[in-house]
Amino acid sequence: MAYKITLIPGDGSGPDIMVEAKRCIEATGIQIDWEVVEAGLGALEKKGTPLPREVLDSIEGNHIALKGPITTPSGSGYRSVNVQLRQHFDLFACVRPCKTMKGIKSNFHNIDLVVIRENTEDLYAGIEFKEGEESSLGLIEMVRGNLSKEIPADSGISLKPISRTASKRIAHFAFQYAVDNQRGKITVVTKANIMKFTDGLFYEEVEKVARDFPHIEFEHLLIDNACLHLVSSPQNFDLLLAPNLYGDIISDLCASLVGGLGVVPGANLGNGYAIFEAVHGSAPKYKGKNVMNPCALILSGAMMLDYLGEAGAAHRLRDAVESVISEGRNVTKDLNPQSPVGTKEMADRIIHYLELGERDG
Ligand code: NAD
Repeated sequence: MAYKITLIPGDGSGPDIMVEAKRCIEATGIQIDWEVVEAGLGALEKKGTPLPREVLDSIEGNHIALKGPITTPSGSGYRSVNVQLRQHFDLFACVRPCKTMKGIKSNFHNIDLVVIRENTEDLYAGIEFKEGEESSLGLIEMVRGNLSKEIPADSGISLKPISRTASKRIAHFAFQYAVDNQRGKITVVTKANIMKFTDGLFYEEVEKVARDFPHIEFEHLLIDNACLHLVSSPQNFDLLLAPNLYGDIISDLCASLVGGLGVVPGANLGNGYAIFEAVHGSAPKYKGKNVMNPCALILSGAMMLDYLGEAGAAHRLRDAVESVISEGRNVTKDLNPQSPVGTKEMADRIIHYLELGERDG
């Protein structure tokens, strides 16, 4: 029986890589009945909203989606569709494995770490007060009255909620993930010395959970120190656990250590729902140019196959991607600026390896 999966092509260069990721996933032989729904700029133009109801209905029905990147306008405009989806389906755990592959030109070798990011709270919660509005002025007044602290009247304000419940939940997820995936060390990353009531609380909850897993090494680094160590000795990290915003930033940093955004996949997981997507965004300047590296989305597809219990297909798909990257001749410009091939041609080569593997049995 075919798996029914929601497919959101995304916008910008999203649809370009989604076409290729879909072909590669299908070439594993796993039967999938894709339900294609549109979110992002295309949906906004056609339906007046970047997140039409049918997208939510489709994921509610199928419980699983593969998603291309979606543009979020900076400064003004609609709220992030990506964040809305994570919040709507309570996809509280974002998992982003970063591993060096043979053939990738990098200053570092032997990196094999995973970033686990709390996905629903923090400054990313989208609770904002616009400069000059009554609610903002009221909040400024409240802060003055309750805390005797002054906020300039022409300020915009973003709230940073971090709850014990969500912190404990992501900590449990991370430690269990470490057990299930043979990871021996967890580094929790915060700024708990400065933001005591939010990052401090996050750290406290993680530390409590760590006591239940004494065989897993546990350390705490402040985010600035963590960045220093990540760019000097990334091999020393195994699993990084962070609140939402730091998790977002260190994911891109870690991606750059292992070959760039073109090769790092991601999964957003909750209770009974999952959305798989690359770490990178919609890179609009590459839209329709056949230059995007499709591997990050293809590898997100491999994570999806694992989630479905199709470990064999996931393994073959990863192997095919790694073979093409290590061969180095049929890869996109980000991996080989001198003589690159296009997005489609790289996917063709991945499919070639998948077919070769099938013939070899
Ligand atoms: P981006 O990740 O889209 O791109 C940054 C740069 O990285 C690109 O210009 C390109 O040079 C390179 N790059 C990224 N992916 C690549 C790939 N697969 N192959 C080759 N090169 C690649 O980041 P941005 O420019 O900051 O964001 C663009 C838009 O995407 C924004 O609107 C942002 O909000 C959105 N975004 C969406 C998601 C998501 O859908 N989950 C994630 C991040 C950013």
